[in-house]
Amino acid sequence: MLYKTRMSDVKPSSDQPTLDPENFEVLRAQGHRMLDDMVDYIADIRQRPVWQPIPDDVRVRFRAGLPEEPADLGAVYDEFARSVVPYAAGNVHPGFMGWVHGGGTAVGMLAEMLAGGLNANLGGRDHAPMEVERQVVDWVRRIFAFPDGATGLFVTGSSLANFIGVLVARTAALGTEVRKSGLGEAGGKLRAYASAAAHRCIPLAMDLSGLGSDAVHPIATAADGRMDLVKLAEAVSRDRAAGLTPFLVVGTAGTVDTGAIDDLSAIADFCAAEKLRFHVDGAFGALAVLSPKLKPLVNGIERADSIAFDFHKWGQVPYDAGFVLVRDGKLHRDTFASPAAYLRPQAKGLAAGAPWFSDYGPDLSRGFRALKTWFTLKTYGLKRIGQVIEHSCELAQYLEARVRAEPKLELLAPAQLNIVCFRYGTSDAANAKIVVDLHESGIAAPSTTTVNGKLAIRCAFVNHRTQIRDVEAMLAAVLRLGSA
Ligand SMILES: *Cc1c(COP(=O)(O)O)cnc(C)c1O
Repeated sequence: MLYKTRMSDVKPSSDQPTLDPENFEVLRAQGHRMLDDMVDYIADIRQRPVWQPIPDDVRVRFRAGLPEEPADLGAVYDEFARSVVPYAAGNVHPGFMGWVHGGGTAVGMLAEMLAGGLNANLGGRDHAPMEVERQVVDWVRRIFAFPDGATGLFVTGSSLANFIGVLVARTAALGTEVRKSGLGEAGGKLRAYASAAAHRCIPLAMDLSGLGSDAVHPIATAADGRMDLVKLAEAVSRDRAAGLTPFLVVGTAGTVDTGAIDDLSAIADFCAAEKLRFHVDGAFGALAVLSPKLKPLVNGIERADSIAFDFHKWGQVPYDAGFVLVRDGKLHRDTFASPAAYLRPQAKGLAAGAPWFSDYGPDLSRGFRALKTWFTLKTYGLKRIGQVIEHSCELAQYLEARVRAEPKLELLAPAQLNIVCFRYGTSDAANAKIVVDLHESGIAAPSTTTVNGKLAIRCAFVNHRTQIRDVEAMLAAVLRLGSA
């Protein structure tokens, strides 16, 4: 019988070689070279362009076939050094001002290497890496003044963290039965509310949770970019009158377009009065709590039922390091825990250490994201990270003042937090071209957005390496490209 292989047929006659190197000294030398190169990459980042397009002859190298045969590590590394490194997105570079990308640090990079060496799986079991993540969870709980019993975990990013926030709210509204029998009639009536400027991952979270993206009402923003709370109250009472079930308000701390922060205290009051859940998408803005100066902007965040945010944006931790914090730890666990005989925690031994992180999210196998965050927070300290965050807001203030002083430039959205939107002259097409030319020049990489129907050059300062001279270099290039 061909399909039935007997163990006696496959018994090895001798030990097989492992995947470890025959000579660790050779590997060590190669490893040191990689480490030195990457330290140089970070140390000398200013000497390189922010970004450059991938040449065709480089792109085709990535279309080569399956690597059936082994290759020398040094040769693979050379390919990485030649074909990958020069064509990275550039968010390590101080001239990167597009979207909301973190800059990362050398400390975080080293921690990634250590985590890789341990190859820890943080789904569960009793080992020290679990304690590291638990410690970071406890730090986060204290940073946001959440009570004992609040739970949290690392996930890829705020997209997933917001999804988890929506799922926990769904359990709060429908009970754990929803996990077995689905939304049913009651679930079909649930309605959520978020600013029209909320991130697209909020409707996506509603979609993924089965509630449907139409079940989150976009609430118009006021002139300051914050959710209009009068309109919020109107939408909730209109839905109630129509027989629907409002259950969740999502506040945004730092909208992607302009950095606006919803009035979180007022939303907390509203949710308390209306018995709605309050979730905050604080992807980058939540960490403003680390700066004593900026903290008042996110007042009320400590009253949320759950918070999603990223350590990989303003926290400067290398990608990826998203995080979700949930006030009611039992509700969080009830949303994800599932009994499985092979995963049953024990009182002692390696299978002890309950509760396990796999009971708080959809992932079973989980990497050691906590370590790079633990290293970053311990090495720099919360104060220092808070200063970095504050400095990026000062750069936005500086840019706003510079734009106001240049007759050729128009300010489209004043500095909110770390983001400024402006443009050169009046043509959308010309500004789109300026940004593309700027990217190709390698000098700076802002992004674009639309503000009041006008195409804007959008600068978001996130990277701790960005300084006034980088803002000046970007401005000089915009003025030069605009007049060309
Ligand atoms: C970046 C961002 C997200 C998405 O976070 P990821 O980490 O990219 O998944 C969600 N909301 C806001 C406001 C963001 O800035």
